[in-house]
Amino acid sequence: MTTTTTVLITHIGYRDEDPTVTGLRGALFGDHLGTHRAAMDIMLRLGDVAPDGDVTYREETRIGSALLPRLIADLGLPARKIAQDVHLRGAVCDSAAVAATHVLTVLNGHFALTCRALLELGNGSDYVQACLADLDSGRTLGVFAHTELGGTNGGADLQVVAVRDCAAGGYRLYSSSIEAVKAMANLADPDVPAVAVFTACLEEDGEDKGVLAFASRFRSADGVLAEGVEIYTLSPKLGSAMPHALIKLNGLLVPEDGVLCGDWGGFDDAGAFVSEVPVRQRFQHTVGPLIHGRLDLGIAMNRSAGAGAAAAVGFTGQRPHGDSDALQRDLVTAVADTFACGVLGRMVRDTAADPDIQPPLGLWVMVLKPLLTTLAQDALIVCRERLASHGILRCNYLPDAIANVFGGKTAEGDTLALQVAAGRYAKALCLLTLPETPAEKPWWLEMITAREGHLATDLYLATGIGRDEYEPDGDAVGLDSARADMAHTTGIRLAVTAALIAADQATDPHAATVAYSVAAVVALGYLAPRGTWFQRRGLQSDQRAAEIETGLLRHRRILLENLTFLAAAFDVPQLPGAPVFALDYRQAFSEITGWGPDSFVRPR
Ligand SMILES: Cc1cc2nc3c(=O)[nH]c(=O)nc-3n(C[C@H](O)[C@H](O)[C@H](O)COP(=O)(O)OP(=O)(O)OC[C@H]3O[C@@H](n4cnc5c(N)ncnc54)[C@H](O)[C@@H]3O)c2cc1C
Repeated sequence: MTTTTTVLITHIGYRDEDPTVTGLRGALFGDHLGTHRAAMDIMLRLGDVAPDGDVTYREETRIGSALLPRLIADLGLPARKIAQDVHLRGAVCDSAAVAATHVLTVLNGHFALTCRALLELGNGSDYVQACLADLDSGRTLGVFAHTELGGTNGGADLQVVAVRDCAAGGYRLYSSSIEAVKAMANLADPDVPAVAVFTACLEEDGEDKGVLAFASRFRSADGVLAEGVEIYTLSPKLGSAMPHALIKLNGLLVPEDGVLCGDWGGFDDAGAFVSEVPVRQRFQHTVGPLIHGRLDLGIAMNRSAGAGAAAAVGFTGQRPHGDSDALQRDLVTAVADTFACGVLGRMVRDTAADPDIQPPLGLWVMVLKPLLTTLAQDALIVCRERLASHGILRCNYLPDAIANVFGGKTAEGDTLALQVAAGRYAKALCLLTLPETPAEKPWWLEMITAREGHLATDLYLATGIGRDEYEPDGDAVGLDSARADMAHTTGIRLAVTAALIAADQATDPHAATVAYSVAAVVALGYLAPRGTWFQRRGLQSDQRAAEIETGLLRHRRILLENLTFLAAAFDVPQLPGAPVFALDYRQAFSEITGWGPDSFVRPR
């Protein structure tokens, strides 16, 4: 194996062009490294650092919305343009996840959800344009309010209803029970002007017309709340401060032009809603913007894990016990998972941005977001633990990153709910294929593919079978857990494939070696604890079991020799005030405390 000198390459803040780092970065950032760096520079200038202990939770909830107008001004584009640019919007979310953890909490709602809902589903009327104009500067916040306290049960059975009010020229929204109040949307701050898009079941003469979206100019720039609304401020979270609310709708009026039903619905001369789309499927069209929100959130959480991993790699190297393989085993797993998921995220984002490709993006992100957020959470927690006391200090960003990933695993569709929903399309999941997938697969990827195919066949055979009759496969306890296992397996197959494609396409042979070992570590790390499952189905011989163990060890060792390359590839800058994101944490602490070398008193 060739090795390149790592003397000048640093885990954090490395922006030079070592060929191996460049090769690995290419896999993570594609053609958009410049956009990501520009977004990161803007993000750092916002100064969104962890507040000191005197700031209350409520004050902290305001940081994100207060910084949004500056962010948009610095980007030099109106919010609607940012929302439509998949790569720029992604770069903004990714950099915020790393360097501006409060700002991150407002980005999805503003850009991917609210702006996109108005652009994709709005009728372009003066009212819709006025909403967009409010959002363009960021001084009015965009919020998408979908979740209901009583649960959304897949979404098509919402309990908030919208009924026509001819005299008022619009639709009135009602929560008619405690279950029907909107929950969690960040609308509680009385000083933050907001445009809110509510989902609700349209009812005409008592008949269900399906779930549509309704855009409300919810709170004016003067802080005046729309009539027909009551707000209760929900409990604080442990980190990731946001003004979460319960919103009781007592007849909130949305003008006719505020009904967002795209080109798939409209109103006849009598004002009745008409659409070719079957009633139950209207919900899917209405929540289309969630697809981009899930894409952004999943990848942003992955980038956040990349930052945590880079910090942990660099800091561990400065500690007296840093060469312990006990630490290194954890780090290598975190780095490999994060790199493979990062490549996968970049590839799906490229596809989402390509106007010539119309992939089933909804299904892709139902697999992608759970996988990326889950492995990002695992990686961040491991990095936090390996950084020990340093990882628990807010100045070092990890506690806020972890709080954000806890939220990110649930916001815009909880992990398990998305996996169960994706698993309903088991056969289609097997067909999800990344561009440039190699024709020849290593045996470890063949094994994962075999499991995926087996789970899909099992679920396919269960079509039409009642829940009670289904005999679960493997460690599933019923249909839904089998579906969740299916979606996770597809996700792993895609992440491993993404790393293999990165190896194939690497501009540098050493980067190719490293990317290949990343694929192997993720794949073998997935197979190793599932030996019972494979053995029972005759898919794993004793010899294969031995190869899984020896292969995992070999490829982990390759990655351990190359952790600095991988950390540098995440392209994480030195974060202000954060010793673990400095090149020398001792120097950073000296600067923070003002305790330079001459300040210390030694015994005579
Ligand atoms: C930080 C944060 C920000 C948020 N922001 C917003 C926002 O701006 N607007 C908004 O509308 N909402 C927002 N939410 C709410 C979020 O979208 C919901 O919490 C999420 O969709 C889950 O709904 P729930 O909390 O009602 O839990 P439930 O849906 O009751 O889920 C409970 C458990 O059941 C599982 N589950 C749910 N449905 C199924 C199913 N069909 N099959 C199997 N398992 C299932 C879930 O995976 C979960 O483990 C936010 C949440 C968080 C944490």
